[in-house]
Amino acid sequence: MQEKGTISIHTENIFPIIKKFLYSDHEIFLRELVSNAVDATQKIKRLSSLGQYNGELGDLRVEVAFDEEAKTITISDNGLGMTADEIKKYINQIAFSGATEFMEKFKESKDANEIIGRFGLGFYSAFMVADRVEIETLSYQDGAEPAHWTCDGSTEFEISEGSLAERGTEITLHINKDSEEFLSKHRLQEILDKYCKFLPVPIKFGTNTQEEEDGVDEEGKTKYKSVETDNIINETNPIWTKSPNDLKDEDYLDFYKQLYPFSEDPLFWIHLNVDYPFNLTGVLYFPKLKNDFEVQKNKIKLYSRQVFITDEVKDIVPEFLMLLHGVIDSPDIPLNVSRSFLQADGNVKKINSYITKKVADKLAELFKSDRKAFEEKWTDIGLFVKYGMVSEEKFYDKAKDFVLLSNTKNENYTLNEYKDKVTPEQTDKDGQLVYIYTNDPAKQDAFIQSANKKGYDILLMNSPIDNHFIGHLEQKLDKTSFKRVDADVADKLIKKEDALEHVLTEEEATKVKDIFNKAINKPAYKVELESLNPDELPVTVTMDEFMRRMKEMAAMGGGMGFYGSMPDNYKVIVNGNHKLISRILNEENTEVQAALSKQAFDLALLSQGLLTGAELTEFVNRSVNLI
Ligand code: ADP
Ligand code: MG
Repeated sequence: MQEKGTISIHTENIFPIIKKFLYSDHEIFLRELVSNAVDATQKIKRLSSLGQYNGELGDLRVEVAFDEEAKTITISDNGLGMTADEIKKYINQIAFSGATEFMEKFKESKDANEIIGRFGLGFYSAFMVADRVEIETLSYQDGAEPAHWTCDGSTEFEISEGSLAERGTEITLHINKDSEEFLSKHRLQEILDKYCKFLPVPIKFGTNTQEEEDGVDEEGKTKYKSVETDNIINETNPIWTKSPNDLKDEDYLDFYKQLYPFSEDPLFWIHLNVDYPFNLTGVLYFPKLKNDFEVQKNKIKLYSRQVFITDEVKDIVPEFLMLLHGVIDSPDIPLNVSRSFLQADGNVKKINSYITKKVADKLAELFKSDRKAFEEKWTDIGLFVKYGMVSEEKFYDKAKDFVLLSNTKNENYTLNEYKDKVTPEQTDKDGQLVYIYTNDPAKQDAFIQSANKKGYDILLMNSPIDNHFIGHLEQKLDKTSFKRVDADVADKLIKKEDALEHVLTEEEATKVKDIFNKAINKPAYKVELESLNPDELPVTVTMDEFMRRMKEMAAMGGGMGFYGSMPDNYKVIVNGNHKLISRILNEENTEVQAALSKQAFDLALLSQGLLTGAELTEFVNRSVNLI
């Protein structure tokens, strides 16, 4: 009995197209065939539990083997098998909606995943690497005959009597010339590790040789023998499929090590588990953050029913959570469609907000249950929380209660705590709260000390996200603005009514200004005279908060061409109440007068790290002379 037929699709010959267009990701043929085999074993198990199959189930497993000489790869299973009629139905009729649509989509796509899933071509992905494929199969059904199917990559196929004596299916690929790389233990192992490591049915690939005890010899020494054991490559019950109640911390840490062998232990983790309105399981880890964000992105692996799909989870996980590591498994994520479609997908949106909520809840719980531990981890999670707050409104709403502001004294405050703390000292005459921060405590030390002397608290805002975070808080918090500590002299950072009296007359003030303007002689520096506390520095160089932010934004490519092209503009604030200024004013030797002014100015630059190169050398020489 032999039957020939034509695979029913409406286009002449799809296999050359498959081969031609699916040039990337050829390796996924193995994922597809092993998944089918796993499905077949799951199905027989189900039939058995439903009482529709009464035979022995046996040890359900899938086996992958290859023969370098014969140039074949074989995937076999003891699943439900197929009858000849079922082969015709399931294999010969490729389920896709129409040749035109197929060709249209094909032209644009470079992604094999997309095509294979979209058009139900899982099995046919075999033809990416094989020029002939054979199926030997025996159905579980009573009285079923074994069947054999073969196809050489044209639309012609042959069905004949098969030779399998046991229930199941064996698929043999005759590997084509271009795909011989797959005829290697190493390569196959690599693909299996990537896609099949957590499949729910044991996957056997090759054998392991082990030494086993074999009684004792005449002298009473233990004898050993080599025993070949099946090499099972996968773990059938990965932790995300288990109940959190059955897991200990070690289990989570071990799994993390297994996924990312060379990483430091994670800070903590979240076990995801929902089945309504979508099905999603997984474990997400908070890694120790390093400064280089990019390296740490794309560490979440996406699975569908324990089959690895991709580690590009960009559209499934909110951007700020891309820094997390771990596994998400959901059969409800449409895996095989284009990116734009994915973004619009309702399930994906729900999954997105579910994950966001879970993460926020976890952080809130940590904060509540152990504030001290939370604070210790803050250096690592702070960046991530702030990132989330600026990018997701919903996350902001939850995180505003546990986000911490850290000051230069290493103290941490929640937003509310901080507000209460600084309100008495840092409210300006218009009732506006002014939060003062530094992004570089070493460089801005002189400013910090002056501000501290005034009783101001200085926040530490030195992470890459802080500029955005500050801008965001200013929008969100009522009557609150931020000022970098060097944006003005301490006395003027927060405008209050209590300005000190000038000791200099108007005439003297103009004279001081002239002296400094001449001595400095740079258009970017504008001299202003202020009556500050006599203990403050004689000269301070500041840059206006607004101007500085505009320039920073322009530098980051914010499209502010106007500000970007502006030269730096500094204010040189001369403290008219300082002893040195009176001394300069009263100096009769104009050369000494100029030198002293320049010296005071350079000292201000020096304390902010703004004095470099030739100017620094000149300063040193002048200092020596003055001594
Ligand atoms: P899908 O898996 O998405 O249904 P495939 O092209 O991968 O699409 O497979 C088509 C069909 O062929 C499967 O649905 C199944 O009915 C049948 N099939 C494929 N492989 C096996 C197998 N190893 N055992 C039993 N049936 C199989
Ligand atoms: Mg399939």
